[in-house]
Amino acid sequence: MSRTLADLLNPSDPDGQQVQAQIQAGLVDIQPQLQQLSELQSHGARASPEVQQQLQAALKYLQAQRNGGPYIPNDNTPPPIPGAIIRQHDVRLTSRTTLSTLYHYPLHTILEYPETNADGTIGHLFRMDPDDWQVPDLNIVYLRGAPTGRMVVGKEIFNDVMVDARGNQVACSSSHSTCQGVKICPYSDEDTLSEPHTRASREDVQQRLANDREDRLQYASPSKDIFCRTAAYVTALRKLGCSRPSSEELESESSPEEIKLRELYWQQVQCGYCPKEGTCKGRIVYETDSHGNPHVRCEHYCRTTNRDHFHDNSVGAPTGSYDLGYIQAVLTDDEEEATCIEQAAFKLGYGPLVECTTVANVSSQKPLTTATQTAI
Ligand SMILES: [Zn+2]
Ligand SMILES: [Zn+2]
Ligand SMILES: [Zn+2]
Ligand SMILES: [Zn+2]
Repeated sequence: MSRTLADLLNPSDPDGQQVQAQIQAGLVDIQPQLQQLSELQSHGARASPEVQQQLQAALKYLQAQRNGGPYIPNDNTPPPIPGAIIRQHDVRLTSRTTLSTLYHYPLHTILEYPETNADGTIGHLFRMDPDDWQVPDLNIVYLRGAPTGRMVVGKEIFNDVMVDARGNQVACSSSHSTCQGVKICPYSDEDTLSEPHTRASREDVQQRLANDREDRLQYASPSKDIFCRTAAYVTALRKLGCSRPSSEELESESSPEEIKLRELYWQQVQCGYCPKEGTCKGRIVYETDSHGNPHVRCEHYCRTTNRDHFHDNSVGAPTGSYDLGYIQAVLTDDEEEATCIEQAAFKLGYGPLVECTTVANVSSQKPLTTATQTAI
């Protein structure tokens, strides 16, 4: 029977049709591999969990294909790609510990934010390269500390996960440490930042950096620059005061109550900073001279008789780099005016009233509060 061109283009044979569709989809013949597998079957077989996982995934794929259904990978069946991260659930480690998830990482994996779990235990198993021995633990960026512990020599443990090529348990040492949480700014949304989170991907970190950058760009303006510079200047003045060496006890213009209040305030804002004994604790004042030029100075500064104390006449420089109204309001204790200026800045997206999102490692020297709840 001769075939017409139409027959060739529209073959009626359903099997032939399927094969053609498979070839078009880039599928190859795996009969030789299946043959080899069945030949291996007579030998007792043991392999690493990774090999088992990949065989399992291949099996599922082939079964699904035979049943005519499409292959839909789920959580438990990673794609059979060499070098993929394999995830297993409910893996028995010892008679007392079962891992809710166990990750198998291929050679040379660098993991900075391993997943944790508030209730269960997560395992991270790294395949090591004997020729390029890198301790994966050192890549983890969580700050860990006390309580810590290390296994006593001679008390090696054995478990079902750490096995040699033949599947025999190998002696393992153990040590533990505790996450120290992170520090957050006291002016942040504490509830949100204190929420425990157990997973951070590289994408999460990138997202966070992108958000910060967007915030910076969105609110970037000359008036923001000026305000931020002024706020930093005012904070420094409040924190350090005059701080010039001063041996003599000087009569202050402030009342004893005012001095007490100021010392209390300093204790709060200085966050552990101790001014050296014998430094001036004079009041910082704002004034304009007869030419209308603004000056910031220690109350004890005097141009003719005492120039040892703090004095800054650069605040009114024609470059206009400071918000003089704000300096004046803060230094003259005009709280109403200071709040007014801060609120105007807040509406534009900056200033001390804006929620802060600063987070730092516990070892950071920044005076932030510790959010011990953060479980990452
Ligand atoms: Zn802050
Ligand atoms: Zn002056
Ligand atoms: Zn002084
Ligand atoms: Zn943590």
